[in-house]
Amino acid sequence: MSDRLPGFSTLAVHAGAQPDPTTGARATPIYQTTSFVFNDADHAASLFGLQSFGNIYTRIGNPTNAVLEERVAALEGGTAALAVASGHAAQVVVLQQLLQPGDEFIAARKLYGGSINQFTHAFKSFGWNVVWADPDDIATFERAVSPRTKAIFIESIANPGGSITDIEAISTVARKAGVPLIVDNTLASPYLIRPIDHGADIVVHSLTKFLGGHGNSLGGIIVDAGTFDWSTGGKYPMLSEPRPEYHGIRLQETFGNFAFAIACRVLGLRDLGPALSPFNAFMILTGIETLPLRMQKHCDNAKAIAEFLAGHPAVASVSYAGLPGDKYNQLARKYAPRGAGAVFTFSLKGGYDAGVSLVSKLQLFSHLANVGDTRSLVIHPASTTHSQLDDAAKVKSGAGPDVVRLSIGIEDKEDLIADLEQALSP
Ligand SMILES: *Cc1c(COP(=O)(O)O)cnc(C)c1O
Repeated sequence: MSDRLPGFSTLAVHAGAQPDPTTGARATPIYQTTSFVFNDADHAASLFGLQSFGNIYTRIGNPTNAVLEERVAALEGGTAALAVASGHAAQVVVLQQLLQPGDEFIAARKLYGGSINQFTHAFKSFGWNVVWADPDDIATFERAVSPRTKAIFIESIANPGGSITDIEAISTVARKAGVPLIVDNTLASPYLIRPIDHGADIVVHSLTKFLGGHGNSLGGIIVDAGTFDWSTGGKYPMLSEPRPEYHGIRLQETFGNFAFAIACRVLGLRDLGPALSPFNAFMILTGIETLPLRMQKHCDNAKAIAEFLAGHPAVASVSYAGLPGDKYNQLARKYAPRGAGAVFTFSLKGGYDAGVSLVSKLQLFSHLANVGDTRSLVIHPASTTHSQLDDAAKVKSGAGPDVVRLSIGIEDKEDLIADLEQALSP
């Protein structure tokens, strides 16, 4: 064996997996079972008491899901990961470990529309209060910090405009406040940006998007960077205080630099229940094997299409961080040198009506509410994903009435450009 550390593409294919010990199966089998037989009564008791690791019941863990967890942890440079049923489930499970009723977390205003909804409405009913900050103005994060702040949440590449967030600057604010920085890395994937390298303490993904990559399976994942000290000041009792569910053990003391991933599994997933189907884990693992190839093609196509749109007379502006004149180009060069992602927005001179008309005339692009598919996708956020926001909030979150969002797939770019050309012509 050489002592070379495997590169990203090698990890994407191999991390966490080995031939099945009983059958020799080379692809990771789908362990489609709810439960696992104990060796004996002592073994069962030690599994339930967290004294040993092993399979009990698929709501808590499953061998197919475990390969996915190990693979994404390796790609992100974390200590451990936990797969769950969706990206939104990942967000609930993470915050449940950090916030008590009445606590606050700071979130970047530029977020996936579903996250804005989840934070504003669903989390409020848990007593978790979101305080919004502007990712383009770091001082707004500093000003938002209060004694009740328990976390900061941002997206690396932000929906819907594809803007790039200055992760290092915000991680400095988090460090000073003594709270973990959570980064939703869905739009970048670890191929483009590894937030842990820039100071993130927790990374979450909707696996539904680029990691799975084929628009066929929902999933989410939480990656623990192993960087945060949960014992400080009794702020995180789920991690630092004795757990009555587990004979009084303290998770941080027992599990050290992967205590957060354990808490998410044994307190979050076990009790809230959003388990990932092993079938979905298999589909997503298969997708991850080609992540580097797909991501590069997604980015190269996106850049070509952004350039085409920027030169089109019907287009008022293009917001793609990969374009040299873009407001976020400097940050893109620093954080995402391989490409600025494949989700971006542009605005039409003809406003709201032109957006609606374009969406209905496109043929190769599918009109739907998703991103990160092999297929190219289009949506008009103001009338769909961001329709719940008032006009000012729409504009602030990058989803004004004249804005169209694209998620560029891996088709031939010439075909995508021809489709846009015909749909933009009067
Ligand atoms: C889709 C998405 C989510 C939510 O993920 P689901 O798998 O749909 O629950 C969260 N964040 C971002 C950036 C997303 O694109």
